[in-house]
Amino acid sequence: MLMDLAALSGLDARDATRLRVLQCIRSQEEISRTDIAQALDSSPATVTSACGALLEAGLIREVERAPSGAVQRGRPRVMLQINGAAFLLAGIKIARHAFLVVIVDFKGDEIGTYALPLAESRMQADALVRRVRTALDAACDHLGVDVAQIAGIALGMPGFINGQTGFMHWSSSVIERNVDFVPLFQVHLPCPTFLDNDANLVAKAEHLFGAGRGLRNFLVVTVEHGVGMGIVLDGKLYRGERGCGAELGHSKVHIDGAVCQCGQRGCLEAYVGDYAMVRDASTGRQTDAPTSIAEILAMARAGDALAHQVLERASEILGVALANLVNLFDPEHIVLARSRPELDPPYPDIMLDALRRNTVQVDAPLPGLTVRNLDKSMWAKGAAAHGIEMLSILKVRERGAVDAA
Ligand SMILES: [Zn+2]
Repeated sequence: MLMDLAALSGLDARDATRLRVLQCIRSQEEISRTDIAQALDSSPATVTSACGALLEAGLIREVERAPSGAVQRGRPRVMLQINGAAFLLAGIKIARHAFLVVIVDFKGDEIGTYALPLAESRMQADALVRRVRTALDAACDHLGVDVAQIAGIALGMPGFINGQTGFMHWSSSVIERNVDFVPLFQVHLPCPTFLDNDANLVAKAEHLFGAGRGLRNFLVVTVEHGVGMGIVLDGKLYRGERGCGAELGHSKVHIDGAVCQCGQRGCLEAYVGDYAMVRDASTGRQTDAPTSIAEILAMARAGDALAHQVLERASEILGVALANLVNLFDPEHIVLARSRPELDPPYPDIMLDALRRNTVQVDAPLPGLTVRNLDKSMWAKGAAAHGIEMLSILKVRERGAVDAA
């Protein structure tokens, strides 16, 4: 399980048990009450009572299975599953050129995806939330889903964001600083909406569906316009005290170095982010300045010295940053997920060499490294996974209030 939501969510003991039972059922395709009691080290009576409430709330359902093993007679076994039909949710990644929407059911099964192109990549918070509504409506229209069926929305956005409260300290997608998004969501969006840092959500998606499955200590580094990171320690997403930790992109690699989009100098992403590489590879060019990493690569292939230099430096600095992560965290695995074309030789080797040279040497192999394309849907899927977790808490709390009344 990615994190102990029950402990984080301020539920009372009874509701916390219900949430743990729900998460236990979610972690399996289907499971019996006896096996839940065993998995949670809980009494059968407690599990039966929690399952009763979850069944009444429509969050889970029962299915009957023929008895297993040699004995084919006897009563069928009653198994529990997440009730996928309970709700639909929308996961939305706020990207620079589009809002990427995925609609899933409560089980996490994908209904479909949709992308709303954007003319501008930075906007006022209010305009951004209105645009989210447009994206949601267009996605529902496109996929034949009634908007009224959407019970929750989760947004993934780059920047310093408190995923527990929806407070954004800073984001490259938003013009203002320090925005409490919750009131804006309440005005413009039709259902409960949750916000988190996009790299955290990719780490969540990698843990649930990708290279991090089954791992307890791993890191996901995302490289695109900026550089982000999600940290999973001891099976839990690490968020930091103010909910905005893991800003690898703004760790400093050069005193008084290049200007970063955050306003400070010498940040990692001021050398490695798409915008920085495009900026640096354009220096001194009157015409034919590159506008993308693909163009910088093409120029380097054609023998352009500046393009080569920018790629070489970015590869080396990224390798050093990865080595720093190994030295700090000693993870089992690092996923380097990037939304950009694969770099030709010699650049991957320059990065790996810098990683090896700068890692503290012990008599053990380096952690595993998966380098892969950041599948666009992974961002939105991570957001959807977050939405499912948050909505589970809300629904358990609502049910608890009904029982208390
Ligand atoms: Zn910065």
